[in-house]
This record gives sequence, structure tokens and C-alpha cells, in this order.
Amino acid sequence: MSVFEKVKAHISAGTVITDYGVKVGKNGMACCPFHNDKHPSMKVDEKHYHCFGCGAHGDAISFVAQMEGLSNYDAACKIIKDYGLPIETNHGGSEMAREAYHNKKVQESRVISVKKQFNKWVDDKIHELKECEALIEEAKESILRTDPREEIISNGFAYMVHKETMIGYWLDILCMEDEADKRSLFLEEREEVSRIAANIKRAGNEILGRSWKCVG
Ligand SMILES: [Zn+2]
Repeated sequence: MSVFEKVKAHISAGTVITDYGVKVGKNGMACCPFHNDKHPSMKVDEKHYHCFGCGAHGDAISFVAQMEGLSNYDAACKIIKDYGLPIETNHGGSEMAREAYHNKKVQESRVISVKKQFNKWVDDKIHELKECEALIEEAKESILRTDPREEIISNGFAYMVHKETMIGYWLDILCMEDEADKRSLFLEEREEVSRIAANIKRAGNEILGRSWKCVG
């Protein structure tokens, strides 16, 4: 069954024509909306209309098509939509509306999940960078108790001290209100933040591990 047949099975020409404001008399005669009709010269029944004055002729779908200046297919889709008919179409009408609705929902849940991911990243990095700051402080204290001639310790320590300002700067951005700054940090320097934080933790643990060994 074609979409046209399904639409016509659901709704009569008389119903559609009446709903367009055309008064149909008990004898099924109406003033034709397609020509300047003073006396009813259009015959309307269940399936068709026919004007004896201007020759306009068709069914529920072609009536809507003529009134709205639509193709028959678009007119059928309009009827499906206007009357909420349970008919699926390939390219338009209810299916298109459903797909648009579905896409909107998917888009919304994607935005929510990206936002969650972003907020989690901000929280995680604040935590991680604060750990780095604490490690740098600990390393500074511990380095005083360690042999400064040790190459590895010196390199690691130099790295930590060198990156200290950077860590503080990133923490300022993450802890302040400006969403745009946080977002650009996330988008542009996310990997750099992770890399430097990881390096500091490695260097810090190395220094503290050794210094504990020395102290012990
Ligand atoms: Zn007519």
C-alpha cells in the first residue's frame, strides 16, 4: 500500500475539505474554493471532489496539494502530520520529525557527557597539580638533606623547580571561575599538563625515594 493509499484509507476527502473551511451541504455540494463560485457547484463525497464549474477534480491529497501549492507527496506528509496519522513515510512527515527528535536527544546527551568529562578533568587536574606543588615543596626540603652532587637528583630537582611556576599558573586557571580559560587549557594544553605532572611526580618520587633511603 502506498503512502497515498494509506492516507486516503485514514481520512476522507470530505473531512479534509471541511477542515479547510469549505461548507459542504447535506446534498454533498459546496462552493468551489478554486474558482469564484457563488452557488455551490462542487460535489464532494468520501473519496473525491469534482467541480462542475471549473473542472477541479481530485481526492483528499490533491485538494491539499492544490490549496497549499505542494506536491502530492508533500501534501500527503502534511496530512499525516496535521492529523497525527500513524503512517511512516520514507523521506518526510512523521519519520523525519522522529529522526530530528532523536538526533536532538543524542546531541543533548553528548553535550552533557562532554561537560561531565570536562568537569571531571578539571577536578582531577586540580588534585594532581596540588599533589605536584606538595611534591615540589617536599623535594625542596629533602634536597637539603641529600648529596647535591648526585646527577639524577639534580636534574629531576631542576626540572621540578623550573616547572613550579607553570604548575601554579595552571592551578590558578583551574581554580578560578573563567570557564573559557579552563576550556582553552583543556583543549590546547591537556596533554602538556598531563605530561609535566607525570614528570614531576616521577622526579619527586625519585628524589624523595632516594632521600628516604639516605636518611634511613
Ligand atoms: Zn471550481
